[in-house]
Amino acid sequence: MPKKVLEQSQSEITAQSNVAERLRYFQERKEQIVQSIRQLVETESPSDDKQAVDRLGALIAGRFEGLGGHAKFHRVQNFGDHLQVDFTGRAGKPIMLLGHLDTVYPMGTLATMPCRVADGRLFGPGAFDMKSGIALMLHAIEALRSWHEDTLPRPVTILLVSDEEVGSETSRRITENLAKKSAAVLVLEPSHGPKGAVKTARKGIGEYVLKVTGKAAHSGLDFERGQSAILELARQIIAISKLIDVKRGLTLNVGTVQGGTRVNVIPAEATAVLDVRVARKQDAGGIDRKLRSLKPFNRKCKLEISGGMNRPPMERTPSVAALFKKAAEIAKRFGWKLEEAAVGGGSDGNFTASLGIPTLDGLGGVGEGAHATHESILISELPRRAALLAELITSV
Ligand SMILES: [Zn+2]
Repeated sequence: MPKKVLEQSQSEITAQSNVAERLRYFQERKEQIVQSIRQLVETESPSDDKQAVDRLGALIAGRFEGLGGHAKFHRVQNFGDHLQVDFTGRAGKPIMLLGHLDTVYPMGTLATMPCRVADGRLFGPGAFDMKSGIALMLHAIEALRSWHEDTLPRPVTILLVSDEEVGSETSRRITENLAKKSAAVLVLEPSHGPKGAVKTARKGIGEYVLKVTGKAAHSGLDFERGQSAILELARQIIAISKLIDVKRGLTLNVGTVQGGTRVNVIPAEATAVLDVRVARKQDAGGIDRKLRSLKPFNRKCKLEISGGMNRPPMERTPSVAALFKKAAEIAKRFGWKLEEAAVGGGSDGNFTASLGIPTLDGLGGVGEGAHATHESILISELPRRAALLAELITSV
């Protein structure tokens, strides 16, 4: 065999055994990862409870500092403080690991939904969305330090925001600023489906309130003097639903309606709240314009539309596709066929991707029941997710 070919195959063999070793490293520490997730789940952190979220933030900051990170809090008045942790590294632009501290579960949920292990799964509020993702960050960083003499191969910036589940209003600018300084953004939100697909596209999300004002009147004595806001709203809802284009990934849901006071009164007011989702950036402006230019069918009624798009879509741009390809190559070395998915839900990855920063989402745990009573993750999937994350940090 020519020398060059021989060398090549030997280095491939070394790389291959490295890969196996690294996967084994995490398999041997599976129980520790589970313990970390348990600690995070048992520190409840509803978005609307600043004290609780700050408690979780302090706990995680301490753990990252124990690994040599520099933790700093971005102070917020009405929500928990956002936690940023910076790790220095040998060379290169930083990689950003993005996630959130908050959950949708009210304080005290643990009493009825305790953190428990059963059938190879860990159950508990926020276990899937996304405390397992935070634990993966912790253990991937720990591993990288131990493999590289206590210095990460490259700088890493971690951002864990406190308000993702309620729209990320106070954190968006911080997320965007840090993303702009990063080579890529890895989002540790839950993966998709039973095979743990990563997310390469997410829809943009908007919320609008359509308020109709008509004129009240006695439905028996003065019927003709009344202008029904409910009737007008009903006609508007039919008109709005014609804007839906499922094939383009443009959907619109009138989620709630409210109106009227009594059965014998022509209703003077009616309101609908709309959830809008777009797969393409260009559709966001179009639907916004159309909603804002709605005209009343009944000229004696008045329409008011408020709200707007709050997350741009994460589109599968070439840089997103390239990052996925890299992840799939790494997974393949672990003997694992990593899949990708496009989903309707948004995350903070929408912000970073729409700035053109390569973003890969859904790198967190594999599980089911996000935001539901059966929320859980598959314990057996944890080691290879941690291994994938560690390799991505090193090689992107
Ligand atoms: Zn989430």
